[in-house]
This record gives sequence, C-alpha cells and structure tokens, in this order.
Amino acid sequence: MNASNRYDKDIPCEFYKEAVKAWRIIFHSYIPKNVNDIKRDWIYDNVLLKDDDGRIFKPPSNFPPYAPEFFYDLPVTDNPREFRGVYRNLIPKLNRSFFKLSFSNNDKATYYITTSTGIKDVTLCNFSTLYSALLSQRKVSAKPWIAKWEQEGAINNSDWIFVWRNVHHSIISQTVQSSLWELLHRNYMCSYFSKLAFGGDGKCKLCGLEEFERTHIFVSCPVINSIYDHFTPLLNSFCPDQMTLKEKIMGKKLESNKDILGILRNYVTSSIKHVVYRNRNNTFTNAVTSLIKLVKTHMKKDLTYQWWLASNNGRKDDFKNLYFQNNLLGSVCTNDSLSFSFTNI
Ligand SMILES: [Zn+2]
Repeated sequence: MNASNRYDKDIPCEFYKEAVKAWRIIFHSYIPKNVNDIKRDWIYDNVLLKDDDGRIFKPPSNFPPYAPEFFYDLPVTDNPREFRGVYRNLIPKLNRSFFKLSFSNNDKATYYITTSTGIKDVTLCNFSTLYSALLSQRKVSAKPWIAKWEQEGAINNSDWIFVWRNVHHSIISQTVQSSLWELLHRNYMCSYFSKLAFGGDGKCKLCGLEEFERTHIFVSCPVINSIYDHFTPLLNSFCPDQMTLKEKIMGKKLESNKDILGILRNYVTSSIKHVVYRNRNNTFTNAVTSLIKLVKTHMKKDLTYQWWLASNNGRKDDFKNLYFQNNLLGSVCTNDSLSFSFTNI
C-alpha cells in the first residue's frame, strides 16, 4: 500500500482499484506504527522511503545477493567494499533514509482527512463524514452539455434542478424520459453530426433543411415547430403561455408538485419531443402530418396503459385527478373506456 501510485492502474479488480484510490486520499500522510508493520513492503517506489532530495527510490535493474529489497533487508550491514555499480551509492542512501523513517508511537496509528469542517482524525469520523469528504475531493466530472446550454444562454445554472425534475417526473414514461435525457445530453447521432463525422449532406430528414447544430430537431426544425403550432390550442388549455425556447429545451418550470396543468403541458410537449426524436432518421412524405398522428397514437397508448394500471391498482381517482384534470386531455366514459380530447384536433 505504500508503493507509489504508478502500479494502481494495473489492479485488475475495479473494487480494489477504487479502494486504493480512496486509501490514497485518506492516508496520504500514513505513518506506520513500527517497522514490523512494514517489514514485508518493497522498499523501491515506496513513499515511506525517500532520498535526501525527497524522491522515492527507483528499482535498480538487477538484484545481486547483497542488494536490499524489503524493509527487513534494511539496514544493509555488509562491508561497502562489496557493493558494485549503482549499489555503491544507493545502499548508503537507503540506509540513511531508513534511519530517518518516523513511526507513530501511539498504540493506535492516527490518520487525518480534510473534511468540510476542517481536518479530522479518520478513526473518529463516522461513515457519512468520510464519504462526503471523499466525494468532495473527487474531480468535477466534465459535463460538456451543461456548459453548452449555459453558454448559449438557454438554460442557466439555477434551472438544472427543474430540468431534471421535469425529465424524471413520474407522469413521464420511462421511454420518454430516456428520449428527453438523450436530447439534453446532446450526444446522439443526427445529420449535423454525421456530416462532421462521415461527410454526409447534413440535411434534416424531417424538414430537408441543413442542420447547423445538434439541437436542430427539437429546437429550430420547422417540423417540430409546426407540430407545436398544431397542438397550441391543447397546450393553451393547460396554460396560455407562448412556447419559449427554454420550454422547448426543458419543459415548463413547475410552480409546485401540485401544478397539475403545468405537468400536463409538459406531458404533451415531452410526448412530441419523444416521437420526433425517435423518428428523426425516418423519411415521410409529409413529416408534420405523419408525426402529429404518431404523437396522438403515442399519447393514447400511454394513457390507456396508465388507465389500465390505475384500474388494476384501485387508483382510478388518482388517474382522473392527474391525467384528466378538468377533462382537458380526455375523460372516462360511463363504460370505463377513455375518450381523448386530442383525437380530432
Ligand atoms: Zn429539420
């Protein structure tokens, strides 16, 4: 464990690799209790043993019989006249370094870790303190999509909590959630990227225009915007707001979890985005008309499934209070079948 980190990458098991990584963060100033604790440690590439310049010792290329390898070989007491080659200088340095080794004289070795509330003795920390201290020392992961959205000014730092709340809202089915997630991560195959990567023509399959950014299909494509126009009366019945660039990207910011009409508006716009996204590589004779039909089919299917689930779980009222709030999206007929408000729009 005191070896330098150059061998860490060779640890085959991910669990032990992560464990060593964590160990290095916590025990960066490890002091052994006594020489017995480390007697079987290799002395080369070992952070406990350093030369006068503070560098660890590199392993020599050959090991003659008198050459030390482990702590229990130190100090080397053979007559220096017997040392050859690199060992002539190396052995006295190793011996000196060995005598400078410091040991913690406590019964219990102490280790320290930097936490948000200062440096603490590891043995006195509870698990959550250790865990959060380790988390805070992790490198910030690169999230290029966040920087891109923020640089473009479409989404600001305080919006992200609402963004993920909308994506993972329970009214949104898992498949739609994954479409929304992929759109926000801007990392999917599209004509714009295929032009960059493979020299394609860069033309959107849906509208035929050239795509100038990856977000074309759900932000600037005339096809999705015509679909939004088509559904405007329905969207306005929930909240009479203009469709903004921000809403196209992240949905409507919900006032609270009781903002059912906002939730329903997001349900419809998310369904539109999902259907358009999943059909972005298909060719249609009339993309707008075909996709509108597909959006309606998608919502009917999803609502019917949710109604079936609710009926079987004794939660019919919950379904009505959410999906069919004010009968805007549809209503339940006397024979328990569903009638949808958007079928003929
Ligand atoms: Zn387009």
